[in-house]
Amino acid sequence: MSNNTKKPLFDVVAIIGIGLIGSSIARAIKKYGLADKVYGYAKTDSTRNTAKKLGYMDEIYDNAIETVKDADLTILCTPVGANLSIIIQIGEHLKSGSILTDVGSVKGSVIRDILPHISEDITFIPGHPIAGTEFSGPESGFAELFQKKWCVLTPLDNCIEVKLNILIKFWQSCGMLVDVMSAEHHDLVLAITSHVPHLIAYNIVGTAADLEKVTRSEVTKYAAGGFRDFTRIASSDPIMWRDIFLNNKDAVLEMLGRFVEDLTALQKAIRWSDGDKLEELFVKTREIRKSIILKEDETNNYK
Ligand code: NAP
Repeated sequence: MSNNTKKPLFDVVAIIGIGLIGSSIARAIKKYGLADKVYGYAKTDSTRNTAKKLGYMDEIYDNAIETVKDADLTILCTPVGANLSIIIQIGEHLKSGSILTDVGSVKGSVIRDILPHISEDITFIPGHPIAGTEFSGPESGFAELFQKKWCVLTPLDNCIEVKLNILIKFWQSCGMLVDVMSAEHHDLVLAITSHVPHLIAYNIVGTAADLEKVTRSEVTKYAAGGFRDFTRIASSDPIMWRDIFLNNKDAVLEMLGRFVEDLTALQKAIRWSDGDKLEELFVKTREIRKSIILKEDETNNYK
């Protein structure tokens, strides 16, 4: 229980999906005193039992409708491909006047799936806390996951400002910096900064594993530095990432097209021994790395 004596932002928060993100949110709500009660729903007995043992929720249900009916804030924390079937179940049982949000890594498809199944008195504000690890499940969450990370909200044109501000306050209270943008822009930015890099990691680890002239044991034995980093990324949850690529097709394909063009240019530079071209790019990318670290330091000092 929190020592916070201020009135919490919400009476009841419902969390649908108790994995890495859902369990981290529940823990953060308890740690920072953001709601009187936190209710959770998970699909399988094993997840529900683990979450019960860990004890960061007031009630854990095997019924999604029961979980959301009294909630002032409902947060969908399931893989994006599961949202449609869930909202069909719970849409008409959401509490009148409540806020519905999600944490999905894709925003356009989430809006497409959710919006037709909720009534006008529900304020739906799509969201994406850009914080995670390669681990999943209810035991992998922790309250500090969101500290000093960005959360993107993509409110719809008719969003009620007061409700948006409450949700912004909620994420800020979890330790996040909040940005507001369109769903389309979010999906394009995340395609190049997160989705395509994951696809490259999955691909390079797959290619290395398939090489016939280099044995699998050699890949494991000499996997230092860069390749080891790729294997960490490529161990991310298969269902979550399958759903991201299936639901952000357009933006991923556009960014992948650009990436392949640039890769072909590099291939040409290597073939023609164009060292200047290679060096020019590597100097530029080293500067980008420096500026990212500098930004992170600024963010840490700002908080
Ligand atoms: P996770 O650890 O695998 O947890 C997923 C949860 O969703 C589990 O509780 C699972 O229940 C439940 N679930 C799966 N399919 C379901 C279905 N069809 N119906 C009902 N419940 C279902 O996943 P996560 O990492 O927390 O990711 C959840 C969401 O957060 C995803 O949309 C992802 O895009 C987004 N996100 C992830 C990260 C990250 O780095 N992981 C970062 C930001 C945002 P059972 O365990 O009972 O099967």
